[in-house]
Amino acid sequence: MSTSSVTELIAALADGSARILDLTQPLSETTPVLVLPEPFANTPHLSRRQLSRFDDAGPAWAWDVLELGEHTGTHLDAPIHWLTGRDGEDVASISPSRLVGPVRVIDRTEQVAADPGYLLTAADLDEHEREHGPIEPGSWIFFRTGWGVRAQDEAAFLNAGEHGPVTPGPDVSGARWLADHPNVVGFGVETVGIDAGAAGGFDPAFPVHNFLLGAGRYGVTQLANLEALPVTGALLVVAPLKLVGGTGSPARVLAFV
Ligand code: MN
Repeated sequence: MSTSSVTELIAALADGSARILDLTQPLSETTPVLVLPEPFANTPHLSRRQLSRFDDAGPAWAWDVLELGEHTGTHLDAPIHWLTGRDGEDVASISPSRLVGPVRVIDRTEQVAADPGYLLTAADLDEHEREHGPIEPGSWIFFRTGWGVRAQDEAAFLNAGEHGPVTPGPDVSGARWLADHPNVVGFGVETVGIDAGAAGGFDPAFPVHNFLLGAGRYGVTQLANLEALPVTGALLVVAPLKLVGGTGSPARVLAFV
């Protein structure tokens, strides 16, 4: 980008012809977290301990200590999160050039309203590319499902059924498609994880984690405001902590539209 291109973007933001969308859910003690069945370890909810609040411990300042999982709230999955990607990048190693790029939206809000366990297939992704043109190098694909409206209600968000969670996501063919596409850098969802709720029973289990992270790509979960993101043409910024050895990190996710 030349200096004049950046200047044009600054001017476009100032005059309102471009704007910034915040695709991040608020992060707090009530942010829903993934629940795994026995015997697996679970991540805690966010908690914080006060260090000072304009008192003897800090008369002019307020600050807290956080405890939270790497995979809490709107967050990034790094390749080393999964067995298939264990020799890949940690969060700190991810190049900023992979965290800023074009984003495509695949909208299945209507289908998910009718079937919360809706599975996104390779055919759906092929259809998107036919309709909206080839995916540009360095692209992220975001799966719009309308699930974000549940984000502040943990029971509705996790949607645990008799046979496990019922949430939308790619099937095995969709996961394979995303990991094999040479121009796809990452995949983002509104739900608690990049895989469908039923994906523990797929072959392979959790295929998006398995294929995508194994291919050195990234995931982003618990996105907000996807209904405001255009299907094509937005510029995405994913900003996780530069956490050395991190398998994931809470992230601020923004888009220029
Ligand atoms: Mn995660």
